[in-house]
Amino acid sequence: MHNYEIEEYFSLLAKLMDIHGENEFKIKSYSNAAYTLDKLAEPVSNMSPSQLYAIRGIGEAIGKKIQEIIETKQLSILNEYIQKTPPGILEMLKIKGLGPKKIVTIWKELEIESIGELLYACEENRLVKYKGFGEKTQKNIQESLQFYLHHQGNYLYEQVESLVSALQKNLEIEFQNEQHIISGAFKRQMESLEFLDVVTTISESNLTTWLATKMFKIEKTEDFVSCKGEDNFEIRWHLASSENFFWKDFTLSCSPEFLSAWEQLPNFSLSASNCFKSEQSIFDQVSINYIPAPQREFAPIIEKARVKALPKTIQPPDIKGIIHSHSTWSDGIHTIEQMALAAKDQGYEYLIISDHSKSAFYANGLQADRIIAQHKEIDALNKKLAPFVIFKSIESDILNDGSLDYSDEILSSFDIVIASVHSNLKMTEEKAMMRLLNAINNPYTSILGHPTGRLLLSRKGYPVNHEAIIEACAENNVVIELNAHPRRLDMDWRYIQAAVESDVLISINPDAHAIEGFDDCKYGVLVAQKAGLTAANNLSSFTLSEMMEFIAYQQEKRG
Ligand SMILES: [Zn+2]
Ligand SMILES: [Zn+2]
Repeated sequence: MHNYEIEEYFSLLAKLMDIHGENEFKIKSYSNAAYTLDKLAEPVSNMSPSQLYAIRGIGEAIGKKIQEIIETKQLSILNEYIQKTPPGILEMLKIKGLGPKKIVTIWKELEIESIGELLYACEENRLVKYKGFGEKTQKNIQESLQFYLHHQGNYLYEQVESLVSALQKNLEIEFQNEQHIISGAFKRQMESLEFLDVVTTISESNLTTWLATKMFKIEKTEDFVSCKGEDNFEIRWHLASSENFFWKDFTLSCSPEFLSAWEQLPNFSLSASNCFKSEQSIFDQVSINYIPAPQREFAPIIEKARVKALPKTIQPPDIKGIIHSHSTWSDGIHTIEQMALAAKDQGYEYLIISDHSKSAFYANGLQADRIIAQHKEIDALNKKLAPFVIFKSIESDILNDGSLDYSDEILSSFDIVIASVHSNLKMTEEKAMMRLLNAINNPYTSILGHPTGRLLLSRKGYPVNHEAIIEACAENNVVIELNAHPRRLDMDWRYIQAAVESDVLISINPDAHAIEGFDDCKYGVLVAQKAGLTAANNLSSFTLSEMMEFIAYQQEKRG
């Protein structure tokens, strides 16, 4: 065993003990041991116990631990610390620029336990409020985190988008006379992807020669040619002839459930799969109306499309107003006026400002006196910007018992109340449902914000019973948010159809913390299309006058 391998045990031990606030003297002895091992020329594994104990900076106690490592490849005291540290905190030690002291603040004060949550907190500008985190530090941490996450197998849809457009451009230039299509999970507009599927008529030798010039790692499998760039993201090239091109694309752009149901259709014949001249001809063969790739998920949609053409799903221009946005009054980057001018400029009819409520102290949440001041500012801006309207709203924390964190009197001063869980996210389904149902039953709640609190690829979200939430929202006329941040996309699109069938409105909201955040609406729309959501069932597609009616109706509910 090399000294540097043994050293790693001690340096990790010192860091973890530091994170857990142990005695500084002990921590120092372990980090000294690591330092000594690093400088030592002779391998300790060749030494006798007495030689080992005699080394300055090692001694008998640590010497015995070194022997334990050499004999068992383990260090029991280190295992104990690993056991009581959440995996996400351990992972943070791999991030450049994050030492034990900062990790303690992140863990204990910001209550963050995973890399994804931490990145989200940087994006929300939340770190700067804590000791030891300036704007520059936050930016550095954000960059290291992005780098780190970028190198972990899975990618958000949004992260792959720019790669896809660059790839398409490249293919058009290099192989003008061939057919290519980006298929698979990307075409199905999945919220995250493991790899990118491309169907192409380029010959294998031309493809591999071209890929080699781009310095891609290339590997051949039975079904496709796989390549990885320096960012380690995998592209799978499915080689097709012009005869089977459309069928190959079709098989890749359906879920397995959808495809197997398709292949059992009465008129389906695989022998014809070599002569489909277009995507449409695949539908024509079995006399089924066209089903867009994002909706090729569950088998029952095939029967729906057989009976009649599917309704037109929501499109990005169907978003008429920005609902759920934060300003400098809490943790946003831009002032209300800047946000409103930008929204107006981009053709939106209204802006609903919902800053954080008072319990969200980390986000500079609004105390009662600041709410009054904010409303004055909104009134003045509304005079200036008419006919554009800024609505008064709040993202009110759902407390531990499910109550909202203001009195009814204060809650009644808002046009719209978004109720969201932001604290104590680690809970049982029973506890989560108690909090959510109480919040939904509150007559002041208009919208349930990001219902599970998940962060894609990094935080699972607390467990909930979606059916019960939908039922309660239907009874109380509460809208369910589809938070459009590409890392949230919460509620999950898989439950949208059930909500719509229960007459529950969905609201595609960007949760914008800056003007640029408005653009995230698009990612909400893309996943909503998977669920077949129409503009009529989406609150943020309401025109200004429809929104005013909606608000009047919500006021009635308050009694
Ligand atoms: Zn929130
Ligand atoms: Zn928010």
